[in-house]
Amino acid sequence: MASNPAFAAWVKRCVHAHKQAGYRAVTLSLKPHGKPPGDITAEQMHLVADLADAYSFGELRSSHEQNLILADVKLSDLFAVWEKARAAGLATPNIGLLTDIICCPGGDFCSLANAKSIPIAEAIQMQFDNLDYLHDIGEIELNISGCMNACGHHHVGHIGILGVDKDSEEWYQVSIGGKQGNDASLGSVIGRSFAAEEMPGVVQKLIEVYVKERTPEERFIDTVRRIGLDPFKAHVYAEKSAA
Ligand code: SF4
Repeated sequence: MASNPAFAAWVKRCVHAHKQAGYRAVTLSLKPHGKPPGDITAEQMHLVADLADAYSFGELRSSHEQNLILADVKLSDLFAVWEKARAAGLATPNIGLLTDIICCPGGDFCSLANAKSIPIAEAIQMQFDNLDYLHDIGEIELNISGCMNACGHHHVGHIGILGVDKDSEEWYQVSIGGKQGNDASLGSVIGRSFAAEEMPGVVQKLIEVYVKERTPEERFIDTVRRIGLDPFKAHVYAEKSAA
């Protein structure tokens, strides 16, 4: 089992420490790339219920990050849980990484929306559809809301995306530097808004600045806090300024 790289990657991202010796908490990822974040089918939900009954005392929790958690799994059952979760598409090893996107229903489902959210999330996931690259980028939170009601908590995303309406067209405002948790902060808007098709490239450029500027121990949020917004703005808007 330890020599299985796919299982090891899943353990690294989706299995968490437990107070009780011999147990772990397991996150079932509802963030397969290219699918609406947080979605689950009826068939998958039946499987999850069976997993909870068989391996976690019948208990299932949903997380703020739109994933499901089996809170009390025996260490010796992890491989069996992984095999079943993976077969059902619930074991993408991306928890806490860039494609573990918090995303509101947006304009596809919500009558209050200014813009669609889900297609933006899916496009970003497909832009970063490389698990090795995702693991190299490391821990980062990207949150998307389709309007200022902020159900996707974009203000506290390390990268936050807000759908806005300009002249009856859908645009996206980007902020960086937000964070949830004990050292919470609100993100700062980097500049003018972007069209939907620009968004994967904008996120790519933000990541490029981070990868260039980071020190070995820094997460994206740490680098933003250390160097400020200007290097990110300069790279994201470079072509626009030159045009
Ligand atoms: S943030 Fe706006 S668009 Fe998204 S679910 Fe909330 S009200 Fe709807």
